Amino acid sequence: MMSPSVRVEIDLHRIRRNAEQIAARVGVEVWATIKADAYGLGAAKVAQTLRDVVAGFCVFAREEATSIDLWNLTRRPAMTMGPPADLNPAAWLAAHVRPAVSTVEQAARLIDARPILCVDTGMQRFACPQPNIADVLQAGRIDEAYTHATRLEHAERLVEWLAPHHPPGQRIKLHAAASSLLDEPAALLDAVRPGLALYRGAARITAPLVEATDSTGPVGYTAWPSETGRHGVILAGYSHGLRPGPCLVNGRRQRLPEVGMQTSYVTLSPGDRPGDVVTLLGDDLIEADVAFAWGTSPHQTLMQLAGAGVRHYVEG
Ligand SMILES: *Cc1c(COP(=O)(O)O)cnc(C)c1O
Repeated sequence: MMSPSVRVEIDLHRIRRNAEQIAARVGVEVWATIKADAYGLGAAKVAQTLRDVVAGFCVFAREEATSIDLWNLTRRPAMTMGPPADLNPAAWLAAHVRPAVSTVEQAARLIDARPILCVDTGMQRFACPQPNIADVLQAGRIDEAYTHATRLEHAERLVEWLAPHHPPGQRIKLHAAASSLLDEPAALLDAVRPGLALYRGAARITAPLVEATDSTGPVGYTAWPSETGRHGVILAGYSHGLRPGPCLVNGRRQRLPEVGMQTSYVTLSPGDRPGDVVTLLGDDLIEADVAFAWGTSPHQTLMQLAGAGVRHYVEG
């Protein structure tokens, strides 16, 4: 659910700058991962912003590209990273999206859509195991292969396992690195597919205090002790994806000690008043800090908070 009280500010300049910095640093093609509506930040806006910086786009399913008319919006190709939902090459060609395949049947049926081989280097999920690589490559006359890599060894296996299969005088294009491997020169290969690294620092998510009061003893459902002696309330809760964790109020680090269904408590300092802005993400509060408190990944944190409120796009 979305809270009308939560403002999700998305800085498109920052996303573009992140992409430009990645491109300059890696020196190979950047394929921007915009799956899941660009991690909740809006795939159409992000794709438009990045079209001159990137070689193409990665989505999970073809529908994510067609639903925003990605080809006409950007004139850049796309690839899927999930299993193909259909084996009709014409639909893939019309969308300018190349399917990832992992079986001989998928490769053979989608041969006209120029399928890309997805190799299982450890993830053990819709990808081709090493012994089948030669058969799938041949069945789809495949010229590009990738792996879902979270560790350097995944990228190294991709290179090693594909080494015997490059046709004479040609090289199969290879890629592995997502955000976590952008600093590993050996993982960069022919292209990178960052998602999170494009979006870091680009979302600022806030809600105003609707109440601010001096606490008179333990507070809320769970009677939490008010260490600061003052607390407030925002109109967003776990139904909007919030969880107990850090926040900022008037430049000071505070906490959401208790999150209810549609409201959350905020610890406050003496001068904080109703109308003051509570920052749930952004300013000096980064995805990794909130993710640590939540015991989850920065990806999930961004996605969850980006869906908490109303989007506003800003430029710089
Ligand atoms: C999601 C995904 C990415 C991007 O991951 P980040 O960690 O957000 O950079 C790249 N490759 C594959 C296969 C993915 O599923």
